[in-house]
Amino acid sequence: MTPEESKELTARLEKAALLLLSLDIYRKPDDLARRFGLPIPVVRFWWRNTDQEKKAIADRDLTLKQAKTIRKATQTLEGWEKVKRYRPECGAKLANGRRCKLSVVIRQPEGWDQGCLADRCRMHGGSSRRIRKKKVEDDET
Ligand SMILES: [Zn+2]
Repeated sequence: MTPEESKELTARLEKAALLLLSLDIYRKPDDLARRFGLPIPVVRFWWRNTDQEKKAIADRDLTLKQAKTIRKATQTLEGWEKVKRYRPECGAKLANGRRCKLSVVIRQPEGWDQGCLADRCRMHGGSSRRIRKKKVEDDET
């Protein structure tokens, strides 16, 4: 998974989470995080960065379109469990000429702005806070 894909996936999760929170389908970020196995600090952070406004809609007042949007957001978030389980392979070159088959790392909450998944496994620097390769120079901030 490229860093771009990882960021894109993370953005999709964020958008879905914020939709369900703003419609008050889940009352608190912690509830949502627990339900979908997302890191609690990440969901709290996402929510804090919004106006944190709730506009609850009673079930009977939901339009078909809203119901569909809610279902889709829920599916997106449910997909996270699958993403966690079937992470891409690390792919780092090994001394024997093969490629590393270990799963890439799920980043710590503070790293999620780089995307939820690293592009390498734990052995190959996936847990590193630094962005590897190209971006090493402007990583000091
Ligand atoms: Zn590896």
